[in-house]
Amino acid sequence: MEKVKNLVVGAGISGAVLAERLASQLQENVLVIDRREHIAGNIYDSKHSSGITVHRYGPHIFHTNSKEIWDYLSTFTSWHYFFLKPMAWVDNQRVTLPFNLNTLRQVFPPYLADRLEKKLVDAYGYNVKVPVMELRQQPDEDLHFVGQYVYEKIFEQYTRKQWGIPPEEIDPAVMARVPVLVGKDDGYFQDKYQAIPAQGYTRLIENMLHNPLISVRLKTPFAKIKDTIEYQRLFYTGPIDEFFDYQFGPLPYRSLRFDIEQKNTEYYQPTAVTNYPNNFDFTRICEHKHFLDEKTPTTVISVEFPQAFKRGENEPYYPISNPQTAALYQRYVQEAVKLPNTYFFGRLGAYKYYNMDQAISAALDLFKQIQ
Ligand code: FAD
Ligand code: UDP
Repeated sequence: MEKVKNLVVGAGISGAVLAERLASQLQENVLVIDRREHIAGNIYDSKHSSGITVHRYGPHIFHTNSKEIWDYLSTFTSWHYFFLKPMAWVDNQRVTLPFNLNTLRQVFPPYLADRLEKKLVDAYGYNVKVPVMELRQQPDEDLHFVGQYVYEKIFEQYTRKQWGIPPEEIDPAVMARVPVLVGKDDGYFQDKYQAIPAQGYTRLIENMLHNPLISVRLKTPFAKIKDTIEYQRLFYTGPIDEFFDYQFGPLPYRSLRFDIEQKNTEYYQPTAVTNYPNNFDFTRICEHKHFLDEKTPTTVISVEFPQAFKRGENEPYYPISNPQTAALYQRYVQEAVKLPNTYFFGRLGAYKYYNMDQAISAALDLFKQIQ
């Protein structure tokens, strides 16, 4: 029987952080496995034949307020500073997104925009973020009007498409990720650090795993090798319900299909991301050359179609958070804590809608805990 000190399931950013820490700080050997044919999980990127670096699983912008996490990653990559300023396709024009005081002027005539701007600033102050659902509940007619407008034009259809259920059934925290800004910053994120790894995300993960104590095995599902390997610790970043053979029932996830197309034009759209919060079947179009400002005669886009998650057919990209799924997840956690030296983490192991920095932070915390 093959023996390893640590087995890490999943070569995404969560698994890579743990493996890197175990090897570099504790000088322990680590076997990292992944059932996909590549490392990096959902942040995987690769060079397209056009010369453009393509984010295979949708647009990924690293953003964090944590100096600790920024400094940590900076030991494995240099950065291309990048601020995402997406646009949304509303009533046959591109408008700035998130909805802010600039968008207000793009969609309303000046006299109305003036009045609404004053109302918003008087009510909330300048440079303040307001969840759209809160704005909709305002008794003031003008504030309610703005909330209702933004909800109908930007959130309602997009959310229905993205999650496959009515917006009222979604955890309010999900839509609150993209608040209305009573201000003029067109950036999607306000974090202090925002960038793309200069040589791409896959190279970043490669560098993290580049340690003689770490070995990586791809196309290797946990189920296939679990009885052939003896390990002292197991770090699992796959779906927690799958690990326990769905004994309490499956946790729901949402999936996506990415249609990647090369277009025979230098640029397809002015920004990296355009959202389509309307009747089209897709939610977003991403033009990848913007991320690293790559200069090529043609371009590559990916069109995102939300889908039901079907086991074995597509990937579980998003946990669906609501009180029922939280309760179901807790039942699995109660099983998990009974297993010695076994740790569940990452977006799927923790069943949390993590951004990259949150996934890294959780993995670093886990490492500190076992250290
Ligand atoms: P994953 O990347 O999912 O890695 C888990 C790995 O485990 C996978 O490679 C999987 O194949 C493997 N695995 C699972 N089960 C098994 C098994 N049984 N056996 C072997 N291997 C297994 N975050 C940001 O900060 N900024 C963004 O702009 C951003 N954009 C996003 C856009 C999209 C469309 C999506 C879906 C996510 C986005 N995220 C973004 C979130 C980001 O992708 C995640 O935070 C991050 O990838 C989580 O890493 P992870 O290692 O926890 O999970
Ligand atoms: N959202 C929306 N319209 C938009 C952008 C976002 O309705 O144009 C809502 C939607 O419910 C989405 C959530 O806000 O799922 C979070 O958006 P985000 O861009 O953070 O999603 P992600 O990049 O994680 O897919």
